[in-house]
Amino acid sequence: MVRPPETDGRCPVCQALSPPLAFVKNGYPMHRCTSCELVFSSQPPGGDKLEALYSAEYFTAGGAGYPDYIADERTHRRQARTYLKRIAKLGISPGALLDVGCAAGFFLDEARRNGWRVQGCELSDYAHAHASQKLGLDVARAGFLDPTFAPRPQSFDVITLFNVLEHIPDPIGVADKLFTLLRPGGHLVVETWDPNSWFARLLGSRWPTYAPPTVLYCFTKRTLGRLFRPGRWMPIGYRASTKWISLDHGLSLLEYEADHSRAFRVLKPILSAVRRSFLGSLDVPYCLGDLAVASFRRESPEGFRVEWNGARVRSRPEAQPPGVRV
Ligand SMILES: [Zn+2]
Repeated sequence: MVRPPETDGRCPVCQALSPPLAFVKNGYPMHRCTSCELVFSSQPPGGDKLEALYSAEYFTAGGAGYPDYIADERTHRRQARTYLKRIAKLGISPGALLDVGCAAGFFLDEARRNGWRVQGCELSDYAHAHASQKLGLDVARAGFLDPTFAPRPQSFDVITLFNVLEHIPDPIGVADKLFTLLRPGGHLVVETWDPNSWFARLLGSRWPTYAPPTVLYCFTKRTLGRLFRPGRWMPIGYRASTKWISLDHGLSLLEYEADHSRAFRVLKPILSAVRRSFLGSLDVPYCLGDLAVASFRRESPEGFRVEWNGARVRSRPEAQPPGVRV
Protein backbone atom coordinates (compact mmCIF):
# COMPACT_ATOMS: atom_id res chain seq x y z
CA MET A 1 0.00 0.00 0.00
CA VAL A 2 1.35 3.43 -0.96
CA ARG A 3 0.84 6.12 1.63
CA PRO A 4 0.65 9.80 0.63
CA PRO A 5 3.92 11.63 1.29
CA GLU A 6 4.28 13.71 4.42
CA THR A 7 4.40 17.26 3.03
CA ASP A 8 5.13 18.90 6.39
CA GLY A 9 3.51 22.10 5.10
CA ARG A 10 5.95 22.26 2.18
CA CYS A 11 5.32 22.42 -1.56
CA PRO A 12 5.32 18.82 -2.85
CA VAL A 13 7.49 19.83 -5.85
CA CYS A 14 9.98 22.53 -4.82
CA GLN A 15 9.77 22.07 -1.04
CA ALA A 16 9.05 25.80 -0.45
CA LEU A 17 7.72 26.40 3.05
CA SER A 18 4.01 27.03 3.68
CA PRO A 19 2.59 27.83 0.23
CA PRO A 20 -0.44 30.11 0.79
CA LEU A 21 -4.03 28.93 0.62
CA ALA A 22 -5.52 29.89 -2.75
CA PHE A 23 -9.12 28.64 -2.40
CA VAL A 24 -11.21 25.73 -1.16
CA LYS A 25 -12.74 23.31 -3.69
CA ASN A 26 -15.00 20.38 -2.86
CA GLY A 27 -14.11 21.01 0.79
CA TYR A 28 -10.37 20.58 0.13
CA PRO A 29 -7.93 23.44 0.75
CA MET A 30 -5.97 24.20 -2.45
CA HIS A 31 -2.61 25.96 -2.19
CA ARG A 32 -0.61 27.81 -4.82
CA CYS A 33 3.18 27.77 -4.50
CA THR A 34 4.66 31.21 -5.18
CA SER A 35 8.01 29.65 -6.05
CA CYS A 36 7.21 26.91 -8.59
CA GLU A 37 3.51 27.76 -9.37
CA LEU A 38 2.17 24.33 -8.38
CA VAL A 39 -1.50 24.42 -7.39
CA PHE A 40 -2.12 21.51 -5.06
CA SER A 41 -4.29 19.83 -2.48
CA SER A 42 -2.49 19.48 0.83
CA GLN A 43 -4.62 16.42 1.65
CA PRO A 44 -3.76 13.75 -0.94
CA PRO A 45 -5.45 10.39 -0.36
CA GLY A 46 -3.43 7.21 -0.13
CA GLY A 47 -3.85 3.45 -0.10
CA ASP A 48 -7.41 2.16 -0.22
CA LYS A 49 -8.88 5.69 -0.28
CA LEU A 50 -6.95 6.48 -3.46
CA GLU A 51 -7.93 3.21 -5.09
CA ALA A 52 -11.59 3.72 -4.18
CA LEU A 53 -11.61 6.98 -6.17
CA TYR A 54 -11.03 5.03 -9.39
CA SER A 55 -13.80 2.47 -9.10
CA ALA A 56 -16.10 1.75 -12.06
CA GLU A 57 -18.03 4.85 -11.06
CA TYR A 58 -15.14 7.14 -12.02
CA PHE A 59 -15.27 5.72 -15.55
CA THR A 60 -19.05 5.54 -15.92
CA ALA A 61 -20.81 8.12 -13.73
CA GLY A 62 -19.59 11.46 -15.09
CA GLY A 63 -18.72 14.07 -12.49
CA ALA A 64 -15.01 14.83 -12.55
CA GLY A 65 -14.52 11.46 -14.27
CA TYR A 66 -16.07 10.00 -17.42
CA PRO A 67 -19.74 9.41 -18.34
CA ASP A 68 -18.79 6.13 -20.12
CA TYR A 69 -15.09 5.69 -20.86
CA ILE A 70 -15.34 2.39 -22.69
CA ALA A 71 -18.34 3.46 -24.79
CA ASP A 72 -16.13 6.29 -26.08
CA GLU A 73 -13.58 3.77 -27.42
CA ARG A 74 -13.65 5.15 -30.97
CA THR A 75 -12.85 8.65 -29.70
CA HIS A 76 -10.08 7.42 -27.39
CA ARG A 77 -8.49 5.46 -30.23
CA ARG A 78 -8.63 8.54 -32.48
CA GLN A 79 -6.85 10.53 -29.78
CA ALA A 80 -4.35 7.68 -29.27
CA ARG A 81 -3.35 7.89 -32.93
CA THR A 82 -2.83 11.64 -32.47
CA TYR A 83 -0.48 10.91 -29.55
CA LEU A 84 1.45 8.40 -31.66
CA LYS A 85 1.89 10.96 -34.45
CA ARG A 86 3.30 13.44 -31.91
CA ILE A 87 5.72 10.84 -30.59
CA ALA A 88 6.80 10.05 -34.15
CA LYS A 89 7.47 13.78 -34.66
CA LEU A 90 10.03 13.56 -31.85
CA GLY A 91 11.97 11.35 -34.24
CA ILE A 92 11.51 8.22 -32.13
CA SER A 93 11.19 4.80 -33.73
CA PRO A 94 8.94 2.19 -32.12
CA GLY A 95 10.57 0.41 -29.18
CA ALA A 96 9.60 -0.32 -25.59
CA LEU A 97 6.80 1.91 -24.31
CA LEU A 98 5.20 2.22 -20.88
CA ASP A 99 1.90 4.05 -20.46
CA VAL A 100 1.34 5.04 -16.84
CA GLY A 101 -2.32 5.04 -15.84
CA CYS A 102 -3.27 3.42 -19.14
CA ALA A 103 -7.00 3.20 -18.27
CA ALA A 104 -8.80 0.73 -20.57
CA GLY A 105 -5.72 0.37 -22.78
CA PHE A 106 -6.84 2.00 -26.03
CA PHE A 107 -3.61 3.99 -26.45
CA LEU A 108 -1.47 0.93 -25.72
CA ASP A 109 -3.44 -1.14 -28.22
CA GLU A 110 -2.99 1.49 -30.94
CA ALA A 111 0.74 1.70 -30.09
CA ARG A 112 1.04 -2.09 -30.35
CA ARG A 113 -0.55 -1.95 -33.81
CA ASN A 114 2.16 0.55 -34.73
CA GLY A 115 4.98 -1.78 -33.77
CA TRP A 116 5.66 -0.74 -30.17
CA ARG A 117 6.36 -3.29 -27.43
CA VAL A 118 3.88 -2.03 -24.88
CA GLN A 119 3.37 -2.28 -21.16
CA GLY A 120 1.09 -0.40 -18.77
CA CYS A 121 0.02 0.02 -15.20
CA GLU A 122 -3.43 0.94 -14.02
CA LEU A 123 -4.77 1.39 -10.50
CA SER A 124 -8.43 0.98 -11.41
CA ASP A 125 -9.68 -2.59 -11.31
CA TYR A 126 -12.47 -1.66 -13.75
CA ALA A 127 -10.17 -0.16 -16.39
CA HIS A 128 -7.44 -2.76 -15.87
CA ALA A 129 -9.91 -5.59 -16.55
CA HIS A 130 -10.69 -4.16 -19.99
CA ALA A 131 -7.04 -3.58 -20.88
CA SER A 132 -5.79 -6.97 -19.79
CA GLN A 133 -8.74 -9.27 -20.44
CA LYS A 134 -10.55 -7.66 -23.40
CA LEU A 135 -7.47 -6.32 -25.19
CA GLY A 136 -4.91 -8.86 -23.96
CA LEU A 137 -2.38 -6.19 -22.99
CA ASP A 138 0.50 -6.54 -20.52
CA VAL A 139 -0.88 -4.22 -17.86
CA ALA A 140 -0.10 -4.41 -14.14
CA ARG A 141 -3.02 -3.82 -11.79
CA ALA A 142 -1.11 -1.34 -9.67
CA GLY A 143 -0.50 2.31 -9.04
CA PHE A 144 2.71 3.59 -10.60
CA LEU A 145 4.43 3.99 -7.21
CA ASP A 146 3.24 0.66 -5.87
CA PRO A 147 6.41 -1.35 -5.00
CA THR A 148 4.84 -4.39 -6.67
CA PHE A 149 5.07 -2.54 -9.99
CA ALA A 150 8.77 -2.96 -10.60
CA PRO A 151 9.82 -3.26 -14.25
CA ARG A 152 13.52 -3.61 -15.01
CA PRO A 153 15.36 -0.26 -14.62
CA GLN A 154 16.24 1.60 -17.81
CA SER A 155 14.03 -0.73 -19.85
CA PHE A 156 11.81 1.77 -21.69
CA ASP A 157 12.46 3.98 -24.70
CA VAL A 158 9.33 6.07 -24.06
CA ILE A 159 7.09 6.56 -21.04
CA THR A 160 3.79 8.38 -21.43
CA LEU A 161 1.44 9.93 -18.87
CA PHE A 162 -1.70 11.31 -20.47
CA ASN A 163 -3.74 13.24 -17.87
CA VAL A 164 -2.29 11.06 -15.13
CA LEU A 165 0.51 13.01 -13.39
CA GLU A 166 -2.01 15.27 -11.68
CA HIS A 167 -3.70 12.30 -10.01
CA ILE A 168 -0.74 10.56 -8.33
CA PRO A 169 0.26 11.58 -4.80
CA ASP A 170 4.01 12.27 -4.47
CA PRO A 171 5.12 13.96 -7.72
CA ILE A 172 8.80 13.77 -6.73
CA GLY A 173 8.46 10.03 -6.20
CA VAL A 174 6.90 9.78 -9.67
CA ALA A 175 9.75 11.74 -11.29
CA ASP A 176 12.34 9.57 -9.54
CA LYS A 177 10.73 6.34 -10.69
CA LEU A 178 10.35 7.63 -14.25
CA PHE A 179 14.06 8.46 -14.26
CA THR A 180 14.85 4.94 -13.05
CA LEU A 181 12.71 3.18 -15.64
CA LEU A 182 13.65 5.19 -18.75
CA ARG A 183 16.85 4.34 -20.56
CA PRO A 184 19.39 7.17 -20.89
CA GLY A 185 18.27 9.25 -23.86
CA GLY A 186 14.72 7.90 -23.56
CA HIS A 187 11.72 10.19 -23.80
CA LEU A 188 9.02 11.17 -21.36
CA VAL A 189 5.74 12.58 -22.72
CA VAL A 190 3.41 14.21 -20.20
CA GLU A 191 -0.01 15.67 -20.97
CA THR A 192 -1.44 17.65 -18.11
CA TRP A 193 -3.59 20.68 -17.24
CA ASP A 194 -2.12 24.18 -17.15
CA PRO A 195 -3.43 26.47 -14.38
CA ASN A 196 -1.67 29.41 -16.08
CA SER A 197 -3.82 29.06 -19.22
CA TRP A 198 -6.29 31.80 -20.09
CA PHE A 199 -9.25 29.46 -19.54
CA ALA A 200 -8.08 28.46 -16.05
CA ARG A 201 -7.43 32.10 -15.14
CA LEU A 202 -10.85 33.12 -16.47
CA LEU A 203 -12.72 30.58 -14.34
CA GLY A 204 -10.52 30.83 -11.25
CA SER A 205 -11.54 28.30 -8.60
CA ARG A 206 -14.49 27.27 -10.84
CA TRP A 207 -12.08 25.74 -13.38
CA PRO A 208 -13.39 22.14 -13.66
CA THR A 209 -9.87 20.73 -13.48
CA TYR A 210 -9.61 21.83 -9.87
CA ALA A 211 -11.31 18.64 -8.76
CA PRO A 212 -9.85 17.24 -5.55
CA PRO A 213 -9.61 14.52 -4.38
CA THR A 214 -9.03 13.07 -7.88
CA VAL A 215 -7.02 15.95 -9.38
CA LEU A 216 -4.43 16.77 -6.72
CA TYR A 217 -1.86 18.87 -8.58
CA CYS A 218 -1.85 21.35 -11.45
CA PHE A 219 1.51 21.98 -13.10
CA THR A 220 2.56 25.01 -15.11
CA LYS A 221 5.50 24.95 -17.50
CA ARG A 222 7.64 26.31 -14.68
CA THR A 223 6.46 23.63 -12.24
CA LEU A 224 7.29 20.88 -14.72
CA GLY A 225 10.73 22.41 -15.19
CA ARG A 226 11.31 22.13 -11.44
CA LEU A 227 9.93 18.59 -11.15
CA PHE A 228 11.85 17.23 -14.14
CA ARG A 229 14.97 19.03 -13.15
CA PRO A 230 18.05 19.85 -15.17
CA GLY A 231 20.83 17.34 -14.78
CA ARG A 232 18.31 14.51 -14.96
CA TRP A 233 15.95 15.78 -17.65
CA MET A 234 16.25 17.94 -20.71
CA PRO A 235 13.02 19.68 -21.82
CA ILE A 236 12.49 19.25 -25.55
CA GLY A 237 8.99 20.62 -26.03
CA TYR A 238 6.02 22.27 -24.36
CA ARG A 239 2.86 23.39 -26.07
CA ALA A 240 -0.88 23.70 -25.66
CA SER A 241 -2.65 20.56 -26.75
CA THR A 242 -5.93 19.83 -28.53
CA LYS A 243 -7.64 16.59 -27.59
CA TRP A 244 -10.49 14.62 -29.16
CA ILE A 245 -13.25 13.92 -26.66
CA SER A 246 -16.87 12.90 -27.07
CA LEU A 247 -19.39 15.72 -26.79
CA ASP A 248 -21.02 13.63 -24.06
CA HIS A 249 -17.80 13.76 -22.01
CA GLY A 250 -17.31 17.49 -22.57
CA LEU A 251 -20.86 18.33 -21.53
CA SER A 252 -20.60 15.96 -18.58
CA LEU A 253 -17.67 18.03 -17.29
CA LEU A 254 -19.73 21.20 -17.70
CA GLU A 255 -22.57 19.57 -15.79
CA TYR A 256 -20.14 18.70 -13.01
CA GLU A 257 -19.20 22.35 -12.77
CA ALA A 258 -22.88 23.36 -12.87
CA ASP A 259 -23.33 21.42 -9.64
CA HIS A 260 -20.94 23.86 -7.97
CA SER A 261 -21.98 27.12 -9.56
CA ARG A 262 -25.28 29.00 -9.47
CA ALA A 263 -24.35 30.74 -12.72
CA PHE A 264 -24.04 27.44 -14.61
CA ARG A 265 -26.98 25.66 -12.95
CA VAL A 266 -29.51 27.15 -15.35
CA LEU A 267 -27.72 25.40 -18.23
CA LYS A 268 -27.86 21.92 -16.74
CA PRO A 269 -31.18 20.71 -18.27
CA ILE A 270 -29.99 21.85 -21.71
CA LEU A 271 -26.67 20.06 -21.33
CA SER A 272 -28.42 16.86 -20.21
CA ALA A 273 -30.78 16.94 -23.21
CA VAL A 274 -27.93 17.35 -25.70
CA ARG A 275 -25.95 14.53 -24.05
CA ARG A 276 -28.89 12.14 -24.38
CA SER A 277 -29.38 12.99 -28.06
CA PHE A 278 -27.39 11.59 -31.00
CA LEU A 279 -25.08 14.60 -30.66
CA GLY A 280 -23.55 13.11 -27.51
CA SER A 281 -21.50 10.55 -29.45
CA LEU A 282 -19.88 13.13 -31.76
CA ASP A 283 -16.14 13.75 -31.47
CA VAL A 284 -15.25 17.32 -30.62
CA PRO A 285 -11.79 18.86 -30.38
CA TYR A 286 -11.18 20.05 -26.83
CA CYS A 287 -9.17 23.18 -27.52
CA LEU A 288 -9.63 25.62 -24.64
CA GLY A 289 -5.89 26.05 -24.23
CA ASP A 290 -5.72 24.62 -20.71
CA LEU A 291 -4.23 21.28 -21.72
CA ALA A 292 -0.51 21.06 -22.46
CA VAL A 293 1.94 18.42 -23.63
CA ALA A 294 5.49 18.51 -22.32
CA SER A 295 8.26 16.22 -23.45
CA PHE A 296 11.60 15.58 -21.81
CA ARG A 297 14.65 13.53 -22.61
CA ARG A 298 16.24 11.53 -19.84
CA GLU A 299 19.83 12.60 -19.45
CA SER A 300 22.68 10.18 -19.80
CA PRO A 301 25.15 10.46 -16.91
CA GLU A 302 27.78 12.21 -18.97
CA GLY A 303 25.38 14.77 -20.49
CA PHE A 304 25.10 15.64 -24.15
CA ARG A 305 24.26 18.46 -26.50
CA VAL A 306 20.56 18.94 -27.22
CA GLU A 307 18.21 21.41 -28.79
CA TRP A 308 15.70 23.60 -26.98
CA ASN A 309 13.62 25.87 -29.21
CA GLY A 310 16.39 25.82 -31.76
CA ALA A 311 19.17 26.72 -29.32
CA ARG A 312 21.93 24.22 -28.73
CA VAL A 313 22.96 23.98 -25.10
CA ARG A 314 25.26 21.84 -23.07
CA SER A 315 23.47 19.90 -20.34
CA ARG A 316 25.12 20.18 -16.95
CA PRO A 317 23.68 19.28 -13.53
CA GLU A 318 23.78 22.89 -12.37
CA ALA A 319 22.54 24.40 -15.66
CA GLN A 320 18.99 25.66 -16.10
CA PRO A 321 17.90 25.04 -19.70
CA PRO A 322 16.49 28.01 -21.61
CA GLY A 323 12.70 28.11 -21.50
CA VAL A 324 12.30 26.68 -17.99
CA ARG A 325 14.14 29.38 -16.07
CA VAL A 326 12.57 29.89 -12.68
ZN1 LIG B 1 6.68 24.85 -5.16
